[in-house]
Amino acid sequence: MAKVIVVGGGVAGMSAAIYARRAGLECELFEAHSIMGGNLTAWRREGCVIDNCIHWLTGTRRGNDLNRVWHELGMLDGTTPVRRRTQLYESEHGGVRIGLGSDLEATRRQMRALSPQDAREINRLIDTVSALTPIVCNGRLNEKAGSILHLPDIVYYRKATLFALAKRFRHPLLRLLLTDYIGGEFCALALLFAYAAFASGNGSVPVGGSLAAAERVRSTCEREGCILHTGTRVTQITTDATEANGVILADGTAVFADYIIAACDPVVTFGTLLPRHLMPGALERRLYNPHTPIFSALHTAFLCDRETLRPFGTRIIDSPAFSVRSGKRLPVREFSHEPTFAPEGKVVLQTIVFQTAEESRAWIELAEDRQRYRERKASVADATARAIETAMPALRGHLALLDVWTPATYHRYLGANKGAFLSYAFTPYAPLRSLPSRVSTIKNLSLATQWLSSPGGLPTAALAGRRAAHDAAVALRTSARTTHGARGAVKLSNES
Ligand SMILES: Cc1cc2nc3c(=O)[nH]c(=O)nc-3n(C[C@H](O)[C@H](O)[C@H](O)COP(=O)(O)OP(=O)(O)OC[C@H]3O[C@@H](n4cnc5c(N)ncnc54)[C@H](O)[C@@H]3O)c2cc1C
Repeated sequence: MAKVIVVGGGVAGMSAAIYARRAGLECELFEAHSIMGGNLTAWRREGCVIDNCIHWLTGTRRGNDLNRVWHELGMLDGTTPVRRRTQLYESEHGGVRIGLGSDLEATRRQMRALSPQDAREINRLIDTVSALTPIVCNGRLNEKAGSILHLPDIVYYRKATLFALAKRFRHPLLRLLLTDYIGGEFCALALLFAYAAFASGNGSVPVGGSLAAAERVRSTCEREGCILHTGTRVTQITTDATEANGVILADGTAVFADYIIAACDPVVTFGTLLPRHLMPGALERRLYNPHTPIFSALHTAFLCDRETLRPFGTRIIDSPAFSVRSGKRLPVREFSHEPTFAPEGKVVLQTIVFQTAEESRAWIELAEDRQRYRERKASVADATARAIETAMPALRGHLALLDVWTPATYHRYLGANKGAFLSYAFTPYAPLRSLPSRVSTIKNLSLATQWLSSPGGLPTAALAGRRAAHDAAVALRTSARTTHGARGAVKLSNES
């Protein structure tokens, strides 16, 4: 049987492994970290779970291609309930709040009651979100005549940033509501797509959160017969003339295969595992485009008493201490819906402040000096607690710090370029076409990573894995060679 090696056990890598096995290939996966999942993860602090991924999972509604992929991978399994929230998020300013609710008509009414003078733009926004629903649910543009009728609006939102869209609204809180979605430089259509997916039930969250989801996908890998190695870093992809033929592990073992799927961050693939000059030009141009905002963030987690908290899901509050990129706003998410994430009577609260590429780079540099890094994290925790207590006075004196993590955390654990955890931001100028998964400079090598498309995320990663497995199946079927994989693994001596 022809053999595939997958480097990296994030969602893209696990998806590649599962689909490779289903295509009848032998498969071995190497993951550097002690657990599988990559960015799809959570960790424990003081008896609490800090969940660091799924805010919404596109594809939770039955009947579309992505939903089928999630069931094939085990991300959704038919027995784990999927939780539909009532709001995507809500924005607060000056003691007033408004949210993007799952009921579009109720949201329209609330927005119009808050700001009657914005009725025209509110109607246009809600009507377009409603028209996008069949597209995000089924992926077919012509599903409903309504989508076509709204094409001029869709084009308008595709060309506008959220800053530009916000300027069309008069009410300051409605302006904030729009730019509170991951930042104002993003394409307005990105928010509309996310909201349409959410409102139609196609962007919910599986109960148990990120770690449980990663564990379900890991066990699908095992069930399919993929050999998984955690805590096993790959240091090199080996090539035989122009063809990938195996990997070298950190302990010096060489493992051979007929096809390699690199499912780690592309800056690790080209720069550590392979020489940087082999990076395809199109990927390099996208990765190092200085005009594309990156997705990295500064986070905190706190514990508070359940009785002091009125559940709100995700609320974005004022926070003068934080960066320009975050618009001096602070998203706060509470996990009262996950009782197992905290001891009885307690709830975990988490915050996320998006960072610019410069801020991320500064965090990565600062992390070299552990003492100063710790001090800076402590001051972030203080500023965050002050912002939360100002916006939610009932929590004053009730917040206990659990953890602070930064772009340096993503850099350290995943090798992520500038600490980024989502790929290219969806801006009005971002090319939406995916890059090829096959690497033209080396035979029998494919990439499986969210970095092949904008804006990244779990669906992008899962589909990239499926595409890379398909590449491997096609290449190995046509070449009918299984020579490298048959060589197995050998321990290289120090001299080699
Ligand atoms: C805070 C946060 C919130 C998010 N929210 C959402 C959300 O709500 N919805 C959504 O869809 N997405 C969300 N995402 C994004 C999502 O997590 C990522 O898009 C996705 O997990 C990327 O998967 P990947 O497999 O491409 O890469 P990664 O997750 O980076 O996986 C790469 C893997 O390769 C491993 N690796 C690296 N180098 C080596 C090596 N040399 N040898 C062996 N292994 C190696 C790494 O350890 C890692 O496990 C969020 C991410 C974060 C951090």
